Amino acid sequence: MRASRFPLFTSKQTPADAEIVSHQLMLRAGLIEKLGAGLYTWQPLGLRVLRRVERIVREEMDRLGGLEVLMPAVQPAELWQESGRWDIYGAELLRLTDRHERDFCIGPTHEEVITDYLRRELRSYRQLPLTYYQIQTKFRDEIRPRFGVMRAREFVMKDAYSFHLDQASLAQTYADMHQAYTRIFARLGLKARSVGADSGAIGGSVSEEFMVLADSGEDAIASCSACDYAANTELAQSRPNLANDAPLAALEERHTPGITTVAEQSALLDISPAQVVKTLVVMADEQPAVLFVCGDDELNEVKAAHALGVDHLRMAEANEAVAATGMPNGFIGPKGLPEGLTQYVDKRAAQLMNFSSGAGRADWHWINLNWERDMPLPAVADLRTAQAGEGCPHCDQGVIEIQRGIEVGHIFQLGSKYSQAMNARVLDEQGEQQALLMGCYGIGISRIVAAAIEQNHDDQGIQWPQPLAPFDVAIVSIGAERSEAVAQAAEQLYTALQTAGVEPLLDDREARPGVKFADMELIGIPHRIVVGERGLANGTVEYRARHAEHNEDLAIDSVVSQLIERMGSPSSSIAG
Ligand code: ATP
Ligand code: MG
Repeated sequence: MRASRFPLFTSKQTPADAEIVSHQLMLRAGLIEKLGAGLYTWQPLGLRVLRRVERIVREEMDRLGGLEVLMPAVQPAELWQESGRWDIYGAELLRLTDRHERDFCIGPTHEEVITDYLRRELRSYRQLPLTYYQIQTKFRDEIRPRFGVMRAREFVMKDAYSFHLDQASLAQTYADMHQAYTRIFARLGLKARSVGADSGAIGGSVSEEFMVLADSGEDAIASCSACDYAANTELAQSRPNLANDAPLAALEERHTPGITTVAEQSALLDISPAQVVKTLVVMADEQPAVLFVCGDDELNEVKAAHALGVDHLRMAEANEAVAATGMPNGFIGPKGLPEGLTQYVDKRAAQLMNFSSGAGRADWHWINLNWERDMPLPAVADLRTAQAGEGCPHCDQGVIEIQRGIEVGHIFQLGSKYSQAMNARVLDEQGEQQALLMGCYGIGISRIVAAAIEQNHDDQGIQWPQPLAPFDVAIVSIGAERSEAVAQAAEQLYTALQTAGVEPLLDDREARPGVKFADMELIGIPHRIVVGERGLANGTVEYRARHAEHNEDLAIDSVVSQLIERMGSPSSSIAG
């Protein structure tokens, strides 16, 4: 490609509303253009990167025997009603009505459509296992679209679905997928790792996420310093430090006028926040429930929803909390709650002795409260978020470390959740009807582009890993308008690289060298060749890798082979 025919809409200004570096650089380098909240146009330069991601993903899906399909973005409501998700998916599902008043949604994911497809077409159990995949545009009406294509509303996903007769076969394909994902992220040049994950609204039991480690990531990952335990903090466990086991002290009520926070309470009563039990009133599928955690712990809403067995959990409004407990806000506590009100205590808070909590009447708190002696111990569950420094749940040696990550992929064993609900069955060898078992496997194609930039950039701009770069090599000619020899040498190199299967960008624009260099660095081309009069006189061109600090002179005769060597295996290869 010639830069004179390929406008680079680069910009020096950092866009004011772009908070993280990948978003800033994607806009500045002219990869994407914002159309509306969470809606982006991929410009030609950005699309070249997106296509390279797609290609590697497609190759690896094909390699494990995946069959590519393309399903509609618009999906009939009936399928979602059958699976039960029409009512529970909530506001992220963009719903619409056609001219015949029929309901539809724009697909945020395709379990229903693929299950419908297979229940119509599958003829025999002998055809199983089967894996289908597509690379397609999804829509999720995210509550807070941000960070550009990292959390967009419209985005490109690779979604794959596998179908099986038995659990062993599902487990095998799941393991193959895990391996394929590991290869994909390695080939993309990303530092990624898999972690145990919650399966969320998609459902099922076993699931893992693939995380690109980056400080700007929205997810927190807990991992062990000694063994290979790693999980999203949404579900990570730990062995927290437990509280005292002093003798039971006498219960006392203390006057605490206007004191409603844990910090104020522990300051006034001179006790550590770890000796306070926080009482939280939540609405679990719109039914009130009371949860207790230690004053220095965070309620983990994902764990709480699991403990309560509900899809949706939210903090109760002030009036709802008062109505549920009969206690004034800020002074709600475990002693004297109405009978029949659902209560759970976190397993760390359950161990507390002689703790403080609201006394159930305005301006008073308890101290030296004890479970069982002063009120029954509620059901115990893991409700807190694991903290750095706590013991690993799997080994004796390690402690939990917390890192930030960007979720780029997610694999699930769904089991028969959709096939049961949607009656997708097949006759087995014994002639018996069997619900199909299913797995599903997503990759955020467009999010990967942003994640790669988070891991690969410097002050000058993007530093693409070779396999993702929009162009492999930048050829910058200096003084081509004055020197026929320079113009010709640049052209020859351009053609020779193309012939060798390399994708060069020839910067033949009439612009100052400094402007060209700055653009090539900003858009992150991994290799740059400068063709100038002085070098040509010695039979050399100037070479610089994007991440290198210095230039090198390369003999013009061998520059193509030297470049190919430095590029490593070309992005199209399926090595190993
Ligand atoms: P998140 O927790 O980030 O919202 P998710 O768990 O909802 O992700 P999945 O339903 O597993 O995501 O979707 C598969 C993949 O699609 C994710 O791993 C992620 O890479 C990508 N993805 C999900 N939501 C978005 C989005 N709003 N914008 C861009 N990519 C997304
Ligand atoms: Mg989501």
